[in-house]
Amino acid sequence: MTVAIIGIGLIGGSLAITLKENGFAGHIIGIDASQENLDKAIRRRLIDEDLPLEEGVKKADLIILATPVDAMLTLLPQVLDLVEDQVVIDVGSTKAELLNTVDQHPRRSRYVATHPMAGTEFSGPEAAIPNLFDHKCAVLIDADCSAPEAVKLVRKMYESIPMTIVELDREAHDLHSAYVSHISHISSFALALTVLEKERDEGRIFELASGGFSSTVRLAKSSPNMWIPIFRQNRDHVLDVLDEHINQLARFRSLLIKKDFDTFYQLIAQANDIKRILR
Ligand code: NAP
Repeated sequence: MTVAIIGIGLIGGSLAITLKENGFAGHIIGIDASQENLDKAIRRRLIDEDLPLEEGVKKADLIILATPVDAMLTLLPQVLDLVEDQVVIDVGSTKAELLNTVDQHPRRSRYVATHPMAGTEFSGPEAAIPNLFDHKCAVLIDADCSAPEAVKLVRKMYESIPMTIVELDREAHDLHSAYVSHISHISSFALALTVLEKERDEGRIFELASGGFSSTVRLAKSSPNMWIPIFRQNRDHVLDVLDEHINQLARFRSLLIKKDFDTFYQLIAQANDIKRILR
């Protein structure tokens, strides 16, 4: 099978390694806005060749969109204009706006919306790694709008990795992604800014950063090029969960002011309940 990947960065590049290694893809074509990224992808052997969009799409059996989500809004209709019986997927972190854009497209059924729930804080082809997706979850969104054999191929692709598959509709996907993933990034960006503001001695940050600080602030290393389009598209759900997060921070602040450490203790014990869900 020939697979074309548009956007050969962390997610596109990691999929390229995985699908080549496990034999799902025999030939991988890279398509990217940046020739520098394509050259790096060739040097790292993530892709077999790079081609312009139209040529790459025509030559592929499966086309994977892996650019930031704002670029997908123009790329997906363009790609659907070019396909006949090929299958197109995206791996973007938000779905409602993208799916609304192509609802009426004559080739809509050739497209399957997906979101592999795996990543790191790094970007670009140099960040691509094998095993990124192993045993993680892949979400198929509004799969009943896609041709059954297209969904079957996409299931086969994710199962080859192997990933577990769940199905959601576009609203539920964006809501739950805001509640779990998007808020974690805002929280980490805010923590990094807090520490950079209060602790002006960078040497001290480095010396005193224990495992706790490093792991909590890890997501703050993520690229604004990828995250701003996500916050723009999922603004309402993110605002909803951000309000709750600010309320929780305000509760801790108020308890500290009142020196009410009994209630503080209870809140931490309640927070520990997350251990039941995530070991
Ligand atoms: P990334 O490492 O920055 O890769 C994106 C690639 O797309 C870059 O090579 C970028 O080139 C290229 N690109 C940008 N605009 C383009 C365009 N118009 N046409 C062709 N190529 C273009 O980003 P990523 O982390 O792999 O994220 C890719 C997608 O996966 C996003 O939609 C994101 O929401 C989704 N996702 C990310 C994660 C995660 O944890 N990172 C997890 C799951 C899903 P430049 O570098 O020159 O801009």
